[in-house]
Amino acid sequence: MRVSENSSSASVSEGKLRVAVLGSTGSIGTQTLEIARLFKEKIKIVVLTAGQNVDLLERQAAEFLPECVVIGSKERARSEAHRFSCTVLGGENALVEAASWPKVDIVVTALVGAVGLRPTVAALKLGRRIALANKETMVVAGDLVQQLAQKHGAEIIPVDSEHSAIFQCLLGERSSEVRKLILTASGGPFRDRSLDTFNSISKQEALNHPNWEMGAKITIDSATMMNKALEVIEARWLFDLPPEKIDVVIHPQSIIHSMVQFVDGSTKAQLGPPDMKVPIQYALSTPSRWEAPHPVVHWDMDQTLSFSAPNAERYPSLVLAYEALNQAGAVPAILNAANEVAVDLFLKDHISFRRITTLVREVMASCTNRPENEIEARMEADQEARRKGVELAGAANH
Ligand code: MG
Repeated sequence: MRVSENSSSASVSEGKLRVAVLGSTGSIGTQTLEIARLFKEKIKIVVLTAGQNVDLLERQAAEFLPECVVIGSKERARSEAHRFSCTVLGGENALVEAASWPKVDIVVTALVGAVGLRPTVAALKLGRRIALANKETMVVAGDLVQQLAQKHGAEIIPVDSEHSAIFQCLLGERSSEVRKLILTASGGPFRDRSLDTFNSISKQEALNHPNWEMGAKITIDSATMMNKALEVIEARWLFDLPPEKIDVVIHPQSIIHSMVQFVDGSTKAQLGPPDMKVPIQYALSTPSRWEAPHPVVHWDMDQTLSFSAPNAERYPSLVLAYEALNQAGAVPAILNAANEVAVDLFLKDHISFRRITTLVREVMASCTNRPENEIEARMEADQEARRKGVELAGAANH
């Protein structure tokens, strides 16, 4: 782990922190803006980006007065530009411009999917702090992204609640004295569902998460446990520890956000009610903590925290994560791309819930690994996996 001693890239010394929010209309993006609303004296929002939701982007721009907004499609950026009184950019490449916008201190990467990689790389090359909510970036190219961060003196602060917990547990500790990272998982909506009814899981059931309110992609990923699988890979690169030192434990209450066990037998944990605003705020404020009215755990009330080991038959995606890490190279990128395709096909009612993980496994088996340590090789693997995913899903349907 790198805890930067030189936090000048994100210091409040010259007035407000200038923050770019990539993916401002999604779940993490809107909650980031709630933090900005709470801390108007500390945060200046300078860039907002949206894929499709121009109406919400317009309202956000009217409130936060950014210098630049980005809209997913170039055509819409042209036709809707009159609704904004700032620079309006369009298309996927505009996200790189947004991440490189002048004098930005922190780039919040709240984009969904592998599309987050290029803008993150651009911001790292400028030595900017990344508040990382786009876990796919670390899954696809975590090794390369960490090298870039070190080369350019940029900090990557995790927003994901599990990784934020681990980041906090590791403050003041030595990486060589860590025995294990223990990622907690709620188990999702199907933790107790009988395995022989998994074939009949509907989209509505999969979209109904018991503890966390999130976007559709990550909610499905939680139901398949692919979210935790991606988080294992994310943790491997964020904290530079081998896969065998990363464990997952089911903890249905989601109060312990994750833990670190040290070589002397001691375990540290970070706890709180399930609320993404706390890790989002911490990624902006660290190494400080800002006083805020977020909900707290009431320790004087009777409650039970329970734990169990995940079952590989119920959650096959976890097995795939360790396989991908052991094969290394582009295989984690292939896993991620295959999963994006599979979730999309499931949400469009083209494949069943169970088919999501079997499709990912088949794509992993049929794509060629690319061992080159280059972003381009990873993106090519990503593209190949997407093509294979659609192809294999189609073959099964006909
Ligand atoms: Mg998480």
